[in-house]
Amino acid sequence: MRKEDCIFCKIAAGEIPSTKVYEDDKILAFKDIAPQAPVHIVFIPKDHILSCADDITEENSAIIADIFVAIAKTAKQLGLDNGYRIINNCGEDGAQSVKHIHFHLLGGEKLSERIV
Ligand code: AMP
Ligand code: ZN
Repeated sequence: MRKEDCIFCKIAAGEIPSTKVYEDDKILAFKDIAPQAPVHIVFIPKDHILSCADDITEENSAIIADIFVAIAKTAKQLGLDNGYRIINNCGEDGAQSVKHIHFHLLGGEKLSERIV
C-alpha cells in the first residue's frame, strides 16, 4: 500500500533517491537528508500501513517489532557498540513532519542527556 504525495512512499518505490543502509522485503532504512547526529538513519515500513505511532494496534504491531530487529542489526553493522538513541515523532505535538511511520536511529557520538 502506498499513498500519493508521501515522500517516504516515493523513497520506498525508488522514485526519490536515498542512501540505503538496510533493506528487506518489508523494511527500508536510509540516511536522513538533514542529519542531526553523525549517524542518523530513518527506518520505515515499505508499505504505508501506519501514519504514526498512534495507529499501532495488536493487529498491526508485528512490523514495529520487525523494525526494531532491523535497527539492532544495523546498529551492530555500523559499530554503534557504545549505544544510540531511537526516536519516533508522533503527530503535531510530536513535531512529526512525514506522516508515514518511521523511527530515527541517532548515534555516533555522545548525545545530549536531554531528549528535547
Ligand atoms: P519527522 O520530523 O520525525 O517526521 O522526520 C522526518 C525526517 O525525514 C526528517 O528528519 C527529514 O530530515 C527526513 N527527510 C525528509 N525528506 C527526506 C529525504 N528525501 N531523504 C531522507 N530523509 C528525508
Ligand atoms: Zn507513505
